[in-house]
Amino acid sequence: MRGTPQQRPTAPNDTSNGRPDTAAGGGPAIGPARLWIDWTACDARGWCAELLPELLTRDPDGYPLDRSPGAHATQDLTIPAQLAGHARRAVDACPRLALRLLPD
Ligand code: SF4
Repeated sequence: MRGTPQQRPTAPNDTSNGRPDTAAGGGPAIGPARLWIDWTACDARGWCAELLPELLTRDPDGYPLDRSPGAHATQDLTIPAQLAGHARRAVDACPRLALRLLPD
């Protein structure tokens, strides 16, 4: 059973609401280091995997997964610095607020 947004589990060490805090949508000056996926909130339509194909793939049901070999079961992905902007864009575009950027 899905809860309301207030009842959903929060990402560990989450320091933001997952939304940009700059007008340019580029996120904070200090790049995020991790991307956390809340599969309980996700609608499995795969928008994030299209926006961040370097890091994300989808399982057969459409849920986003870490593309790294051997890391498919994780919901806490390390983001290379060069992909921080793309990760921010995926977080901003998630219609279910199911993605969070976390500090390292
Ligand atoms: S964009 Fe959000 S809701 Fe859509 S598949 Fe990705 S995490 Fe799930």
